[in-house]
Amino acid sequence: MSTNELLPLFDTIAQCNRCGFCQAGCPVYRTTGSEHSLGRGRQAIARALILGEMELTAEVFQALEDCLLCRGCTAHCFPAIKTDETVLAVRHAYITRHGQPAWQRFLFREILANSKRLESAGRMALWAKRHGLTKVVEQSGLLRLVDKRFQAVDQVLPPMAAKAFLRGDQARVPVPREVKHRIGYFASCGLSFQFPEVVAATLRVLARNGCAITIMDNTCCGRPAHSYGDLDAARAIARKNVEHMAAEAQGLDAIVSDCGSCSTHLKEYGALLKDDPAYREKAAALSLKIRSFSEFLAANGLEGKLGALAGTVTYHDPCHLSNRFAKITAQPRKLLKAIPGLTYKELPEADWCCGAAGSYTFLHHQEATGVLERKMKNVEKTGAEMLVTECPACMMHLSYGARKKGLAVKVRHVSQVLDDAYEARK
Ligand code: SF4
Ligand code: SF4
Repeated sequence: MSTNELLPLFDTIAQCNRCGFCQAGCPVYRTTGSEHSLGRGRQAIARALILGEMELTAEVFQALEDCLLCRGCTAHCFPAIKTDETVLAVRHAYITRHGQPAWQRFLFREILANSKRLESAGRMALWAKRHGLTKVVEQSGLLRLVDKRFQAVDQVLPPMAAKAFLRGDQARVPVPREVKHRIGYFASCGLSFQFPEVVAATLRVLARNGCAITIMDNTCCGRPAHSYGDLDAARAIARKNVEHMAAEAQGLDAIVSDCGSCSTHLKEYGALLKDDPAYREKAAALSLKIRSFSEFLAANGLEGKLGALAGTVTYHDPCHLSNRFAKITAQPRKLLKAIPGLTYKELPEADWCCGAAGSYTFLHHQEATGVLERKMKNVEKTGAEMLVTECPACMMHLSYGARKKGLAVKVRHVSQVLDDAYEARK
């Protein structure tokens, strides 16, 4: 039986000439050597599904699950086929036909779609990690009841901060000396719970740059549901965020996010809700206001003097900020190079995925570890003491890579390095 839902993709899939150039850019293929891990293999599977030569079984679905959605293949492909979109369409078709695991439905519909429940769940997770419960849960095999592939959660997660940054926490927002911009801050789940110190640094740097900041009343951006192919949940989450932010956004110059995945996904709300007459205009208007942290600061120019920092720094491009997605690559480098005293060294394969890819590292740990090893070898070649990026999942995975490899490199967010430089001028 043909998988008719994929028919709109057929023209795209037909452009694949099977040249195999995508081998050069696929981090998963370079680890597994499997044809199905490759853009070419994934297009061939989708084509066979459309032609009815293959059934959309759990096995076929699993063969496409190990894609990072990173578009490393697209960068090497003459017709520039976006394999991630093919993979997402197959994932969506599969869960529409066969349903999805209960934990996913619950997470995307009941937790991520509701900021209050999300914060409660985040606080519980912090508490569990701090009290060693994640290790106990992992060792007991309980997580495997949720999905038998879950592994290494306790090792990969960083030590947790004492206090999360909670949405609506306007009292902790610094005030600028002189207001030059009125902006909203979109708090990402990853930074709020895992790296609240990054949120604090981001807010300080923005305030030093004349930003009067409103913390937006947002929930998760919906990227996790979207990546699993649960487009209904992703759209429902997007509608909630539009409802909660659209009116406030009208009075703001921009809405800034320091998570590359969130900012890029929010910029896509207009496209995601384009067929929804009640939301498409508001969603498109909201998307136009979104800026990633580096994008916003580089466009407006840094205010005030930066103090000197010492050492060598390098930068890892999160996939969603790379030239394959939002194209925010020059801006973070420009900001880092503006700091006196720092030596900037370019990272080989800087825009290759680090293997985090949301929860990929927990569900495909072997492949993710292979991808991460390649990344950390490149980091080692730079001799950098500081490895900077702009995404909490990358920060988590790169820190894990540094710990695993015993590398004395500090993983930091762009905002933390700028914050240090502002502090250093005192
Ligand atoms: S590079 Fe593009 S056209 Fe060539 S095999 Fe890969 S997906 Fe197909
Ligand atoms: S999107 Fe990334 S992981 Fe998926 S096939 Fe392309 S290069 Fe490989």
